[in-house]
Amino acid sequence: MNDADEPTAEGKRRYPETGGFFTEPREPIPCTCLETCEALCAGECQCLACGVLFAMFCGELGFYPRSKEELEQAIWRYRGESIDKH
Ligand SMILES: [Zn+2]
Ligand SMILES: [Zn+2]
Repeated sequence: MNDADEPTAEGKRRYPETGGFFTEPREPIPCTCLETCEALCAGECQCLACGVLFAMFCGELGFYPRSKEELEQAIWRYRGESIDKH
């Protein structure tokens, strides 16, 4: 966890095309994920870039988790739909 303006090395791996930034909504947001993050981080590590990406995913579904349980479900769905299960 950090709140630097620079993406971490892991962030650069996750967003290689933009050098570690998530650039969709407005201003580029640095990904501050660590190697310990889930493959599809939902911003639990305080990474704003991944958090926004996750929020957009929820928004597209019209799903706005209000409780911790709903949030966990949303994250589960987020990962389940985008990661191949082994
Ligand atoms: Zn991230
Ligand atoms: Zn993360």
